[in-house]
Amino acid sequence: MIYLDHNATTPLDPRVLDAMMPFLTDRFGNAASRHHSLGCDAATAVETAREQVASTIGADPREIVWTSGATESDNLALKGVLESPVYKKRHVVTVATEHRAVLDTCEVLELRGVDVTYLPVDAAGRIDLDGLAAAITGETLLVSVMHGNNETGVIHPIAQIGALCRERGVLFHTDATQSFAKTPLDVNAMRIDLLSASGHKIHGPKGVGVLYVRRRDPRVRCQPLLHGGGHERGLRSGTLNVPGVVGMGVAATLPFDDGIGTLRDRLEQALVSRLGDVEVNGHDATRLGTTTNLSFAGVDGARLMKRMPDLAVSSSSACTSALLQPSYVLGAMGCDEARARASVRFSLGRFTTEAEIDIAVDTVVEAVTALRAAQD
Ligand SMILES: *Cc1c(COP(=O)(O)O)cnc(C)c1O
Repeated sequence: MIYLDHNATTPLDPRVLDAMMPFLTDRFGNAASRHHSLGCDAATAVETAREQVASTIGADPREIVWTSGATESDNLALKGVLESPVYKKRHVVTVATEHRAVLDTCEVLELRGVDVTYLPVDAAGRIDLDGLAAAITGETLLVSVMHGNNETGVIHPIAQIGALCRERGVLFHTDATQSFAKTPLDVNAMRIDLLSASGHKIHGPKGVGVLYVRRRDPRVRCQPLLHGGGHERGLRSGTLNVPGVVGMGVAATLPFDDGIGTLRDRLEQALVSRLGDVEVNGHDATRLGTTTNLSFAGVDGARLMKRMPDLAVSSSSACTSALLQPSYVLGAMGCDEARARASVRFSLGRFTTEAEIDIAVDTVVEAVTALRAAQD
């Protein structure tokens, strides 16, 4: 099996597993039970991991809140800020191509009386910064724009967006799940106030994530989603997943090779040149080096995947109520339904090799050629 679905989840790095193992066995203490050595040991390990995550993004460890993953981090960022009694403004600006964890949360906020603006994107998946500036009003509390898109890899210019938000006095949240620990991020240089990330997208464990919450200039006020015990400075009650936290801390420190973009380009160029009639979705935008989203004209993405059982990729159609819906991300980029249905996402990870890319190319070329021939 060749695995090119790393934007969905990644295999655990063996160094991460090694670091976690003692906390799954002998070192099983509860990080909140500091009256004995097992609890102290767990608490120390959690604080080390907090420092590891914080230093990845130039944050203070006290600004890192452990969560169950990026879905929870996105929920905590949006609901937590909008529900804080300190803030009176009730408008959010986000983008049509955000992850469902942001969009569905915004829909819930709308039901609670919050006004949400969903910015459009161009054919390459980019937002217009003037459009963003125009969307910010005196009522705007928060702008939420992701860093790298999970379906297309399209990168939003978060440093420019952060600067704009700071200038206009609005808070800025970014879902950086696909770029965290893979591309350089600095919450101060980029003027980020809240940032979501997840362990299992960076060769760490599932079920753990973080929300960065700025403590000064400005201090971000956030209401907890979960109550009971007051863990994480009251922002997220519940016994910490110590093995997961330790694993995410180590995963955040492991270097991510820039060479991955070269492998992605090799895959993309080989498929485009050998097959013809292949569109690279988001081609004109700056993209994550891990991701390519291709539309193979005349081919149904889901059927293509069925023909390639030994290649794990993702068709961007999401299964909703038994109906195959074409991707809303590609839809927002103006792709017609046929092109959206013809799309497949390939996403690479730390352990992807050139040999795997070459086999994947042969597999896709053979399958697409066969499916196209069957139609003639
Ligand atoms: C995977 C992903 C999420 C959800 O993360 P979980 O940790 O699985 O909850 C949120 N946002 C983006 C951009 C993602 O890629």
